Amino acid sequence: MIVITKSDVTPETGIFTELMEYLSGLPGIRTRLHEEHGTQQTVTEIYLIGDTASLQIEDIQSLPGVERVVRVSEEYRILGRHRDDPRPTYFYYKGIRFAQDTLHIFAGLCAVDSREHVELMMKALQALGLPCTRMGAYKPRTNPYSFQGHGKACLPYVFELAGKYDIRVIAMEVTHESHVDEIREALAQTGNPTGVMLQIGTRNTQNFELLKSVGRQGEFPVLMKRGFGITLEESLNAAEYLASEGNRKVVFALRGMKTNMGDPHRNLVDFAHVPVVRRLTRMPVCIDPSHSVGSRASAPDGLLDVFHATAQGVIAGANMILADFHPRPSKALVDGPQALRLEELPHFVEDVRIAREAYEKRTAYAARLATEDLKGF
Ligand code: PEP
Ligand code: MN
Repeated sequence: MIVITKSDVTPETGIFTELMEYLSGLPGIRTRLHEEHGTQQTVTEIYLIGDTASLQIEDIQSLPGVERVVRVSEEYRILGRHRDDPRPTYFYYKGIRFAQDTLHIFAGLCAVDSREHVELMMKALQALGLPCTRMGAYKPRTNPYSFQGHGKACLPYVFELAGKYDIRVIAMEVTHESHVDEIREALAQTGNPTGVMLQIGTRNTQNFELLKSVGRQGEFPVLMKRGFGITLEESLNAAEYLASEGNRKVVFALRGMKTNMGDPHRNLVDFAHVPVVRRLTRMPVCIDPSHSVGSRASAPDGLLDVFHATAQGVIAGANMILADFHPRPSKALVDGPQALRLEELPHFVEDVRIAREAYEKRTAYAARLATEDLKGF
């Protein structure tokens, strides 16, 4: 159960202290405090954990200082979307709104290989007015002898170039908590020219200690990849780990499932789950068509499978797209075969725009039918 206090009832006030004392004294109940810092105001939430079934919403609702009470189901307490749940489905980072009703393209390098390639990529993004990208510095590789990423050595030039080309957010995978410190230090050293969305890779979806440490910091938002061999429920619970440690700025990414049923694609595209994740949780939903499809194969209609998969996710309401691009795919050190070329970026952006427009028309039509229904048609 979540108790949301009135806006002027902050932890410093006497009325709040009394409320906390009362709630903590309820039998079988533990409390946990969370403050949500928005642009306008801070919302204070008290989580009641334990035997809440015996509590009546009306009783708690009538306590002094209480604005609203939400009974949450057991699943995804913090990130979940619960009945009569007034909590937001968005967050802001670097002035950009990440929400269940926005869409952002994160086109970029799977792995940073050279300064020149980073610069060419960012220049192409700026030319199209795209303020976000993906850049891998720490790469989890199946083969221990494969290129593991340049690590912290590349961070200063990646961040400096981001500043130069107006890139405000870089999605970057971390595989160890020390990487977060390295990113923070490199950002400070370069004068904080950009922001970073920490990415948890599919192989680390259930690395609970990593999730806890990334969840404990609130500075960087997190892009949480779905585990490629576990259930959706398990992956959503993994995302909840981040929130339970305090970080709710989480975007959930679908990236395809590992099974030969998806052949000849690298993974079975799972973008039919876009509306499912939006229904079950308040997280914006990302799709990663590059790692799902894993090749540059194209259909007889002249569109690459990656374009088709992207459009499927977008027309279903996706809020973010992570896509591998490379100025010279044949020279890429990681995932070259699935990378799109920079010359393809304008087409990709236009194709996404068309799919998004179709999504907006679909929802507008559904909303119109619903109002007509209400009018008795
Ligand atoms: C990636 O985005 O570069 C990546 C390794 O993705 P995933 O963890 O989904 O395989
Ligand atoms: Mn990759």
